[in-house]
This record gives sequence, structure tokens and C-alpha cells, in this order.
Amino acid sequence: MNIPFSPPDITEAEIEQVVEVLRSGWITTGPKTKEFEKRLAAYMGTNKVACLSSSTAAMELTLRLLGVGPGDEVILPAYTYTATCSVICHVGATPVMLDIQNDCPEMDYDKLEAAITKKTKVIMPVDLAGILCDYNKLYEILEKHRGKFSPNNDIQRKFDRIVVLADSAHGFGAVRDGKISGQWADFTCFSFHAVKNLTTAEGGAVTWKSIPGVEDTDTYKRFMDLSLHGQTKDAFNKTRAGAWEYDIISPAYKCNMTDIQAGIGLAQLKRYPQMLERRQEIIKAYDAAFEKNNVELLSHKGLNHCSSGHLYLMRVNGMSEEERNQLIVKLADAGVAANVHYKPLPMMTAYKKLGFHIADYPNALEFYKNEVTLPLYSKLTDEQVSFIIAEVRNALKEFGK
Ligand SMILES: *Cc1c(COP(=O)(O)O)cnc(C)c1O
Repeated sequence: MNIPFSPPDITEAEIEQVVEVLRSGWITTGPKTKEFEKRLAAYMGTNKVACLSSSTAAMELTLRLLGVGPGDEVILPAYTYTATCSVICHVGATPVMLDIQNDCPEMDYDKLEAAITKKTKVIMPVDLAGILCDYNKLYEILEKHRGKFSPNNDIQRKFDRIVVLADSAHGFGAVRDGKISGQWADFTCFSFHAVKNLTTAEGGAVTWKSIPGVEDTDTYKRFMDLSLHGQTKDAFNKTRAGAWEYDIISPAYKCNMTDIQAGIGLAQLKRYPQMLERRQEIIKAYDAAFEKNNVELLSHKGLNHCSSGHLYLMRVNGMSEEERNQLIVKLADAGVAANVHYKPLPMMTAYKKLGFHIADYPNALEFYKNEVTLPLYSKLTDEQVSFIIAEVRNALKEFGK
């Protein structure tokens, strides 16, 4: 057998939707995208969703909407993908990277308290593997430090505290304490990239909790302006007979979602509950199979939470970085594609150049060293799952684990 790491789960339903869009005569942002936004909002129980070209675009536009820029600080964990940090750099703000907790990929909340300054405008928690962060704890800390917040524009004054922008690229559909991702943070950004749980090939979305004193439709309009050249009419409305005239209200950006993408998304969203269920079934099989191995696993399901089952992270106790790399090669030779999530950002050239040192992030380094991510996706068959389990247990045995 040859098991890829994360192929997309595409059926005839997605193909039909795309063909329908192609035949319709309208292929970029239009009715399908608007319908996808409405259905996403209904799924999450939020008022509005803005679909964009990626989660990276969604996070960057949120920072721009909040007027975050040079002189401002944005706090994030070191254990994430580069996009969480690069968007902070794009807007000219200063990334403040925190170490994670001991044996838990969430940011260290004690360190968070110490990192909050008068310049802190936004905190970006990451729902790694699709497991929601402790947002109750996060908001408690932000309330405690409300006095330090110094807003420098209207929207920041409306919040009157640090804003929570969740990188929930992995977390679509994840639940904690009865609340689904999208309902926790002030703004939540999702990725529909090809390897994510729900895909539109490339794509992303942002949803938000209503901001006191701001209409949700105005916030939505701001996202549309920012993502479509600051043009007062989108192409769909502009091409209607007699409706040619428009204004440009700011030299903005271009990162809208197309109706072709939205078509794929609509078909995926319909199938999503079953896709999530399948992911949890596989996690259950993995958890049971590796129970007696010398490994640490994350909790994807418990009394108060259920993850989106995006990634299956396994940490092999006592394993060195080199042995972990050998383990991945052994699995590859056996036909199982494994991965690592993540090499901490301070180990990457770009962030070393910005002055980050991995020595300042001991927990992130420890978490990374012995971590291996196994294939986990809705298309895996029971037979493939058994094969992966057998090969992983075989490989672990060779290392005495
Ligand atoms: C995939 C991913 C992103 C980026 O998503 P795009 O839609 O490709 O921009 C951001 N953060 C995390 C944690 C991711 O895994």
C-alpha cells in the first residue's frame, strides 16, 4: 500500500458544482460565494462570514481592518505555521512570539501576562490540530490587563481591550464547552487550502462576534472593500446593465474568493458532518492502537470538547530529533507518508533574521523534536487505517517504543 499524507476528499458532488459554475457564465465572486458565506455562517451560528482567497488573506485583512500597523505589537505562539506570523510582518507590526506550555501546543498563558504591554493590540491563538484553545482563560487575562490598552483608532476604541484573532485554519467545526469555532474569538479565520479539512482548493474565510456599536454588515463591507481594490461595487454588480459607475475609496488589496471555489466549498460543507465523524472514527482507532506504546497523544474528544480532527500528532517519549527523522523515513519506506507539525518559527531562517532564537522557546523545541504527524483524512479506508497502525507500531518497535 502507498498512503499519501493528505489528499483532498473530492466526490462527484464537488465536480457537479464546479461544472454548474463554469456553465453559468459567472465564474468569479458572485452568487455562489454569497451562498457559501451564508451557509458557513448558518453552520457556525454567527451573523456574517466573509470568504476570501486564503486564511492568510483573512488574517491580514483582519489586522488591517483593526488598523494594526507600525509601533503595534501582536502576540502569537512560536509553535505554528509561518502565516500566523507573516501577516503581522505584512502590516508592519511587531510579532511577539511566546513559548508554548509544557507538553501542550497552546501558548504559555503565564508568559502571555508578562508579554502584554501598552503596545499590544491583538493576540493570535492557534487551534493546532483542530483542538480549540482555552479561550475562557485567554479572555480572563485580557480583562485583567484592560487598563493597559491604548487604542489609536475608532474600531480599537470600540473594543477598548486587546482583540483576539484566532488562527483556526485547522479548527473549522471544532467545539469546546458547547461553542463551535467562530463563536469564541473576536475574529476567527479558517483555511480551505487543499490539505485542510474542508477545501475549496485555495480559500479562506473570516467570521466575527458582533462588535458593540458596529453593524455586522458594515464590518462585512469593510472586508469586501479591503479584498476587492477598495471598489464600491464588486464585478458582479458592476457588470449589470447600466450599473457601470463605481468609486475607489482606498488603494486596497485583491484576495476575493471565486464562485468556482465556493462551488467546491458548498458541496464540501454539505458532506462536512460525515467527514468530521470519519476523522473522529480514525482518531479513536489510532488512540486505541497506540495506547500501550511509549507515546504522548493529544485529546481530540472529551466531556467538554470535540476537535475537528485535523491532524494526528504523536510524540514519541525519549526520542531524539534524529531518531524521529529516521522514523519518518522508515514509515515512508513502508508506504506511509508522515509529517511534522511544526518546526517552531524561531528555527526558520526568516525569523532567525528577525532576531528570534530557539533557545528562548524550550517547550516548543521539546514538543517539535519527537513529534510525528500521521495521515488523517476522511477518505482513509478501514483497511488503510489498519495498515498505517501496523506499520507505525512496527517502526516504533524498532526504536524500542
Ligand atoms: C494552512 C494554515 C494557514 C494558512 O492557510 P492558507 O489558507 O493557506 O492561507 C495558516 N495557519 C495555519 C496554522 C495553517 O495550518
